[in-house]
Amino acid sequence: MPGDAVAVLDSTGRLLGRGLYNPRTGIACRLLTRRDELVDADLIHRRLAGALQFRQAAGLAGDGYRLCWSEADGLPGLVIDRYGPVSVVQCQTLGMSRLGGWIAGALGRLFPDGPIYRADDATAARIEGFEPQRGRLTSAPSSDASEEIEITDGPCRLVVTLGGGHKTGLYLDQRANHARVAGYAAGRRVLDAFAYQGAFACHALLGGARQAVLIESSSGALAGARRNLEANGVAERAELREANAFDELRQLEAGRERFGVVVLDPPPFTRRKETVDAATRGYKEINIRGLRLLEPGGVLATFSCSHHVTPEMFEAICRDAAGDAGVTTRLLAPLTQAGDHPVLLNVPETRYLTGLLLQAV
Ligand code: SAH
Repeated sequence: MPGDAVAVLDSTGRLLGRGLYNPRTGIACRLLTRRDELVDADLIHRRLAGALQFRQAAGLAGDGYRLCWSEADGLPGLVIDRYGPVSVVQCQTLGMSRLGGWIAGALGRLFPDGPIYRADDATAARIEGFEPQRGRLTSAPSSDASEEIEITDGPCRLVVTLGGGHKTGLYLDQRANHARVAGYAAGRRVLDAFAYQGAFACHALLGGARQAVLIESSSGALAGARRNLEANGVAERAELREANAFDELRQLEAGRERFGVVVLDPPPFTRRKETVDAATRGYKEINIRGLRLLEPGGVLATFSCSHHVTPEMFEAICRDAAGDAGVTTRLLAPLTQAGDHPVLLNVPETRYLTGLLLQAV
């Protein structure tokens, strides 16, 4: 039955592994093991315990971090982020969506009394054929967690709406980059385009930026940004613009505005191989404009989170953009997703966030 755990055999009847089956999708079975072991509550617990151990050993298990990154942690279709004592679970496949009880049980063993929320993605649920769940899953008796929680990320405080907002609440994959980009912000004017709840801007302003301009098309995300800027006491140095970044970048360029730091962190411009060309044009356009907005010595942090756009492709796009913009550009560093979103060498899809830190010479 769709969603069931099944054994996968080769033509001679030899066991290849066990996984979760869904014939509706491009990947009919997602393997959870290549060994002869059962897909049961204990397997989920072993995998999550291993995921926690890896992050603790690497110093990645702070106040907000990704505990489980799907295939990369041996649990395809399952994402779990931790915000303080809270676990936010996102099921991305039909099979995984049915294992909520086992997942909650394993989390209960690892984090006794920690509240658990679900934040399933509606698009994934539609493709896979399950009803997405959002909101509080368990109510641990000793906990008084509300629907919002504030976490600390270095010097920064960020408010998370549990079971709401994008992803599981925050873009934890950008955490290391928030801090890194802030290192260039002191005394400068910063543009945070595709800002979501303003994490780049908050870090930059705490790092001494003179001013930050945030561009974001979603009013809900901007409301979150305003709250975060206020929580960090930097709201008076920020300007929030609810706008389409493509239009706003064009207007800033037409107005000959200049910034010491520009961040371009758009949503994935393609989720499919067939539309990579159109995505390439989109990335090129915003990067031409972003580079033209830099003052001499200014720094552009530019990203793609479309896993079909490889680091090599993205570098080529930015090279083209720099040529068209007429800006001599120094490559300061390649950027990628935070270490709590590990990459499996043999599962290239586990790497999806690519970026470049560039400087106008
Ligand atoms: N930089 C953020 C994450 C950005 S995610 C962080 O580090 O937390 C991308 C954001 O772009 C989303 O919040 C989405 O609402 C916004 N967005 C999507 N299309 C947009 C557009 N055309 N113009 C402006 N913002 C857009």
